[in-house]
Amino acid sequence: MNRAWDTIIVGAGHNGLVCAQMLASAGQSVLVLEAGAEVGGFAAPREFAPGFRASIAAQYLHQFSDALLRSLQLERHGLRFAATGLATTVLASGRHVRIAGDHVDGVSAEEATRWQQLDTRLARFAKFMATVQSTMAPRLGSSDFQDRWTLLKMGLRLRLLGRREMREFLRIAGMNVYDLATDELEDPLLQAALGMDAILGSNFGPRAPGTVLTLLTRRAGEATTTGGYRLPIGGLGAFAQALASAATAAGATVRTDAPVAGIVIENDEVRGVDLANGERLSAARVVSSVDPRQTFLSLLGTEHLDTGFVRRVDHFRHRGITAKWHLALDALPTFTGLPSAQLGDRLVVAPSLNYLETAYNASKYGEVSVLPALEISIPTVHDRTLAPAGGHVLTAIVNYAAYDAKDDLGTAREKLEANALAVLESVAPGIRSLIRSSELLLPMDLERICRVTGGHWHHGDLAFDQYLMVRPFPGAAQYQTPIRGLYLCGAGSHPGGGLTGLPGRLAAEQIQRTAP
Ligand SMILES: Cc1cc2nc3c(=O)[nH]c(=O)nc-3n(C[C@H](O)[C@H](O)[C@H](O)COP(=O)(O)OP(=O)(O)OC[C@H]3O[C@@H](n4cnc5c(N)ncnc54)[C@H](O)[C@@H]3O)c2cc1C
Repeated sequence: MNRAWDTIIVGAGHNGLVCAQMLASAGQSVLVLEAGAEVGGFAAPREFAPGFRASIAAQYLHQFSDALLRSLQLERHGLRFAATGLATTVLASGRHVRIAGDHVDGVSAEEATRWQQLDTRLARFAKFMATVQSTMAPRLGSSDFQDRWTLLKMGLRLRLLGRREMREFLRIAGMNVYDLATDELEDPLLQAALGMDAILGSNFGPRAPGTVLTLLTRRAGEATTTGGYRLPIGGLGAFAQALASAATAAGATVRTDAPVAGIVIENDEVRGVDLANGERLSAARVVSSVDPRQTFLSLLGTEHLDTGFVRRVDHFRHRGITAKWHLALDALPTFTGLPSAQLGDRLVVAPSLNYLETAYNASKYGEVSVLPALEISIPTVHDRTLAPAGGHVLTAIVNYAAYDAKDDLGTAREKLEANALAVLESVAPGIRSLIRSSELLLPMDLERICRVTGGHWHHGDLAFDQYLMVRPFPGAAQYQTPIRGLYLCGAGSHPGGGLTGLPGRLAAEQIQRTAP
């Protein structure tokens, strides 16, 4: 078989596209194969009702670094923002607080000062974490100079926080966000705001150990951008389109409607891929942005892997916990006590940490959360391209939605949608009468539509035992795999999910350094 391509990338999610752009810019011939009709993966566009558009899953671009955005020249490729630096407003019936960076309105002066101090400290830690996230995770016990140097630099950067701050970082990094928030803050809405950022996308309630880690990883992404919470004009699908355009301009070819059925191996080495339509395409290397379980268990096949490795793949926790809700509205809703100028904020409905914990408890037992937490966006306040004249789009992340629901899928969907609507009505009375169309996507729906096992935000839990040098699992960290020529570049790899482009970027760097 002739090697037609230097690199074939499986999946045109944002990480696959970042990786493609970088490898093509470095002179490789690159083919990206996307199973769906659109690029973008979780950020791909979806017309969920006639004329009403949103992205399938992701809502905000808030972790994609200024540096990467500039180096990919995404603005030259059409990326424009309808809104940047959106504030977060946390709502409970009858009351709200508004957070813009270290400034907060709607609480006492003492509480505002406490928030400012905590926010400043977390920002400092997030800056340190940002260096960890944007560096290839070193292997432990390795004699390789690069690994040792990376470890040394991490240690030094931690030490440069200063003795007191370093101790504080080490004290809180393994804590749960419930304890951190209740130690530092008094206002339940502010505590819940912190809790919500820690648990979004993770299979955790706020009392779970490791939730300060997930909070810091999110804040680390945010520390790399000056844009804050951003909404691209045309939705996140337009962001994905800009990435595809950048990759194509660099020389890559992007094919949609091209599901890969298998990775071709000969003599323990990658030869290319087989498409579902029977076509065989050859390449010197294959880079998979598909989640690790699917990459190894379905596309590659266990016959090419040793038993210990297969066990690690099997143990990778991957069940999603987040649902996505799309509403087509006939008009803008009114939220009790909220000035209309704030309707375009990032709106969070999570009145307390206990509320979050209770919502989580249900999902642990496969039950539907009676009072789910919501992260709401009304993008049409800023961007009229997403709905027909007069109409509005309201999207929400709904936590929690068990992957293994006890009920059948239809019943679980109906119950969660009814519960989410009751919560929404409690802060926006009358909204029910504005709803023209509603679509709730459970993790199982996201699994099917986006082809991500478990429908998981990060392609697999972000937790201490699946983080940094053990992400996704030993033997497949550093984007390399036991199979020569097979690499990973998706959210399942370090540093995890979110629209950061980091797994894609770091994988491209690793391939350029090590590929045959
Ligand atoms: C409900 C929800 C809300 C979220 N909200 C946000 C948010 O607001 N902000 C944020 O930053 N992050 C958010 N995230 C997380 C973020 O969207 C993901 O972490 C990120 O999109 C992962 O990108 P990726 O490129 O690694 O993978 P994906 O986006 O999953 O892309 C993988 C691609 O591979 C393709 N594929 C799969 N199998 C095959 C195959 N066999 N052949 C060819 N192609 C294949 C898929 O179709 C897909 O296009 C959210 C996630 C969820 C689930």
